[in-house]
Amino acid sequence: MKTKKEISILIIYTGGTIGMVHDPATGSLVPIDFRHISDHVPELRKFGYDLHSISFDPVKDSSNIDPAVWIKLAEIIEDGYNDFDGFVVLHGTDTMAYSASALSYMLDNLKKPIIFTGSQLPIGLLRTDGKENLITAIEIAAAIENGIPSVPEVSIFFDNKLTRGNRTTKMSAEHFDAFNSPNYPPLAEVGLHLKYFSNLIMHTGKEEKLIVHKAFDNNVAILKLFPGINRKLMQAIINIDGLRGLIIETFGSGNAPTYQWFLDDLKQFIDKGGIVLNVTQCHGGSVEMGLYETSRQMLSAGVISGTDITSEASVTKLMFLLGRYSSREDVENSLKKSLAGEIS
Ligand code: ASP
Repeated sequence: MKTKKEISILIIYTGGTIGMVHDPATGSLVPIDFRHISDHVPELRKFGYDLHSISFDPVKDSSNIDPAVWIKLAEIIEDGYNDFDGFVVLHGTDTMAYSASALSYMLDNLKKPIIFTGSQLPIGLLRTDGKENLITAIEIAAAIENGIPSVPEVSIFFDNKLTRGNRTTKMSAEHFDAFNSPNYPPLAEVGLHLKYFSNLIMHTGKEEKLIVHKAFDNNVAILKLFPGINRKLMQAIINIDGLRGLIIETFGSGNAPTYQWFLDDLKQFIDKGGIVLNVTQCHGGSVEMGLYETSRQMLSAGVISGTDITSEASVTKLMFLLGRYSSREDVENSLKKSLAGEIS
């Protein structure tokens, strides 16, 4: 059994609101120097864990995060995998759910906690939610039960809830309670006590060592359907040069218009090798293709059901699988199954 002092955690700061303080000279918000993180959050000294930190340089607003950044992040984790017991990734909230999803697919046989967190208010402001989020995320990354990490998966801790990263979506640009996991219950809840729901937490169980997959193919598009959609939009998308995968964000339980042109265009894209994934626009619930006439025809055209996947988890999964496999059959088969708990 490790003592607190022996539990080592790596904090990786990628950017985002959490790492900002007021520059006394200019009054503007500037990123903190993460080598001196304890100066800004003195509470960390009381923890007793062996804390280390590393910062991206330059730091990124999360709107600028892309597959190259996911690869860099995964490589930092890969390099430190044997030296640290857990990892806390500080990330802007805007695209945190995309990055957490991407990392969940990249890190195969993961047996250590990767906890993403951030904040709505900078850590340098009095009313910040950043301190609370950071402190609890570290505590979760360090938690061990019966000699093994309590949460050995990629998750997001935000405002008292720990949720699976690839099930999470940003719901609010205003509230401290910014994230939700509509189709999978929280992995842990924080009140007076930290309550882990171990029956919901994934343990890979396999003995194999960590494998990091580092290829993505961003030749994908998302088409959000709306009543009155114009064929010219559909055609412009399916004729994008090099497009390999298309996510259609459909209505309700996976429904789309039954216009003949819509089905013909989808079929044309599929017949020339394209992959189409049906993901619902609803925040909760699942695609059920065939339930209504408006989705049955898509099923026979070869559209794949995204079941209850989030939009964030679906686009990262598609880019990941297209990067990993060249055969359409391999991509389609993997889309239908859960890689890291992203679908039920
Ligand atoms: N624009 C910021 C980002 O996502 C917002 C935040 O950190 O919450 O990087």
